Amino acid sequence: MNKIIIRKTEALNEWRRNLKSDINFIPTMGNLHDGHQKLISTAKNSNCYTNLLSIFVNPLQFENKEDLESYPKTIDKDIEIAFSNGADAIFIPNTIDIYPKNNKNNCYLKASKELSSALCGLSRAGHFDGVCTVVYRLLKLIQPRNLYLGEKDWQQLLIIRNLLEEKKFNVNIISVPTQRDYDGVPFSSRNKLLSKNEREILKLFSNEISNAKKIFKKDKKIDLKQLTKKLKSKNISIEYLEHLHPYSLKKVQAEDNITILAGAIKCGKTRLIDHVFLMKRNPIIAIDGPAGSGKSTITKLIAKELNLLYLDTGAMYRAISWFFKKEKIDYDKDSELKKILNNISIVFKSNSLYQQDVFINNICVTEAIRSQEISSIVSKISSIKKVREFLVNAQRKIGESGGLVAEGRDIGTTVFPDAELKIFLTASIDERAKRRKSELELRGPEKIDFNQLRELIRKRDFDDSTRKISPLTKANDAIELLTDGYSINEVVEKIINIYNLKIPKEIQFE
Ligand code: C5P
Repeated sequence: MNKIIIRKTEALNEWRRNLKSDINFIPTMGNLHDGHQKLISTAKNSNCYTNLLSIFVNPLQFENKEDLESYPKTIDKDIEIAFSNGADAIFIPNTIDIYPKNNKNNCYLKASKELSSALCGLSRAGHFDGVCTVVYRLLKLIQPRNLYLGEKDWQQLLIIRNLLEEKKFNVNIISVPTQRDYDGVPFSSRNKLLSKNEREILKLFSNEISNAKKIFKKDKKIDLKQLTKKLKSKNISIEYLEHLHPYSLKKVQAEDNITILAGAIKCGKTRLIDHVFLMKRNPIIAIDGPAGSGKSTITKLIAKELNLLYLDTGAMYRAISWFFKKEKIDYDKDSELKKILNNISIVFKSNSLYQQDVFINNICVTEAIRSQEISSIVSKISSIKKVREFLVNAQRKIGESGGLVAEGRDIGTTVFPDAELKIFLTASIDERAKRRKSELELRGPEKIDFNQLRELIRKRDFDDSTRKISPLTKANDAIELLTDGYSINEVVEKIINIYNLKIPKEIQFE
């Protein structure tokens, strides 16, 4: 494709009309650095759409003229960087193109009050209104499929996301983690304005907050007063340093697992920001749903894609059922059960096919637990209080430090009620019976009768959702996905998109 530079909105409209593909849009104010390069290369590598980068220093988002005039401008170099990193087109409008005089379409937008009344919003009056106005204008002109934004400007990202949700603007926001220089300082166009000493101050600040993150990992708490005092003692001029909920930007609550430590400092005349996300444990995804809803296939793919541990809790109930059957254990004799369970160990081991084998007391039961015979007794066994207590404990132990996606019936309600993302996966009974039939037929020679299988599933649904302890129910805060008519990949993509809205990219692969 020919690389193209577009300067006027008419030319942009013309180019847009003739374009055959969707657009990945990367809005910038120029002076491109490694952070921008990462945005462009992420866009380039995520699909085969046309990558359009804009360079526009938006006067509306500057509180004073001096700051606007001193903003670094390096257009020729920017064009070279953008094209060599994968941009197909660059839009470089003038102020008059974006804000034409006396145009009745000139509407000025207001940023969310809640989100802009914290952090930078407190000292930069009108800044986020200016950001919202320009982003919305550019999006209206460009109509992209994807919008790439850096997490470096986290508050801005939240405000734009909120704006586009409110306006019901159909665009996917893809966020890209903060890129840092060799000394830990986040790339920013304003870094260019710093003297050597000022850069040292910024480095001290960035290093101190990343150090606070390391300490938090161990202690699970942070002393903001102490940290502020320490920064001040190093001659760092703090505008704010806050520990907040990462999405509402409200005060942290005791139960918050992920939080943000964000600050702004003054280095000479230049104002700079940085942040880190703090986590008590890594994220957890809970996927619950009835038999045959596609949980296993989907959960495995999500685990692989997001590099999370995969926990199949159904396999644990099945393994116990297999063991009870083999040992002819009379599980109604409660007094014996605790002793028996305490002598059971269930272990998952990855095999070479990105699949897991299940072992119970060192016997591999991966295949055996999938038989119809086990399927027909597992609901009964999983409704026994002692069995559930034993397995829920074991599951919580596995998920202690997070970083996992677990599937089952009670993950979001009982095992990990504080999971960051809860999905309740369902499908019609016919669809589920169809899926299970093909799955079983692939496994082996067992003869499968569709109607019988459907009845078995119906019975298991009934037993699972009417049992006394931890019945199969959708957690209040779970998102229900009905998967009839969707491909596996579509469901996986949907769940990953929701995950991306709940977990900053910056901490997804820690
Ligand atoms: O998911 P799968 O079909 O392998 O689960 C087998 C059975 O194990 C379920 O029908 C249910 O009775 C039980 N189970 C449970 N709680 C879980 C997972 C599975 O009761 N978290």
